[in-house]
Amino acid sequence: VIEFRDVGKRYGDNVVLDGLDFSVRKGDRVTLIGPSGSGKTTILRLVMTLEDATEGYIFVDGEPLTHEERNGRRVELNKKQRKRIRQKIGMVFQQFNLFPNMTVLENIVEAPLHVLGHPRAEVLERAGNLLEKVGLADKADAHPSSLSGGQQQRVAIARALAMDPEILLLDEVTSALDPEIVGEVLGILRTIAEETDITMLLVTHEMQFAKDVSNRVLMFDGGRIIEEAEPEAMFSNPTHERTKSFLRAVL
Ligand code: ATP
Repeated sequence: VIEFRDVGKRYGDNVVLDGLDFSVRKGDRVTLIGPSGSGKTTILRLVMTLEDATEGYIFVDGEPLTHEERNGRRVELNKKQRKRIRQKIGMVFQQFNLFPNMTVLENIVEAPLHVLGHPRAEVLERAGNLLEKVGLADKADAHPSSLSGGQQQRVAIARALAMDPEILLLDEVTSALDPEIVGEVLGILRTIAEETDITMLLVTHEMQFAKDVSNRVLMFDGGRIIEEAEPEAMFSNPTHERTKSFLRAVL
């Protein structure tokens, strides 16, 4: 579903990602781990097209995401092409990023109504089901500011799913939450992982969660993948020294 081909990202002289080659198959649940600043969040931002790669190419379902190579030259996709591919992808952020001036329901229906142009009745029904699923059916008319962090994050998950994405990107979705409510958010994500075949790419510091939901773990350091394994093998028997010391520090 997602293919990175020799992808690099630089901010000025700062090389954040360097010659990245990997692919994610349909239904894969891939966890990115690694020290702070190793480029994990940047990868999600590239897939979400919040940033463009400075080198290399990213493909989603075989189509270029933001730019392609034609006759050896880099050609940017136009807005319409970008939008069509972007609609396949949903993202949940560390800081929720809900629209503060909208109610919970409005947050969820905004994009399906105005970006996808789906019929109102259908969108409302789906939003109701999603709110039910994340346990917030009684909060449809509340504003985000009146909700706890855990509740806001559950709204953000419902909002991402309302677009019926093929790919769900989860960026440290529990990092801003009090420890005792981390579980409620992880529980919902675990259910989604079990009940759907959505491809997931996640950055998390919750290693148990990574173990529970993912089938592959990629260890990053210095903008490169230094080790890749199934979660069980990665966490119990890492081979790379850097992975060993990282896991000793976080487990
Ligand atoms: P963390 O776990 O702390 O979130 P990370 O592995 O997700 O770390 P990134 O957030 O991807 O790391 O950041 C990688 C590097 O890119 C950092 O050195 C950061 O300073 C740099 N960086 C990210 N965004 C920008 C930006 N907009 N401008 C300049 N540098 C940036």
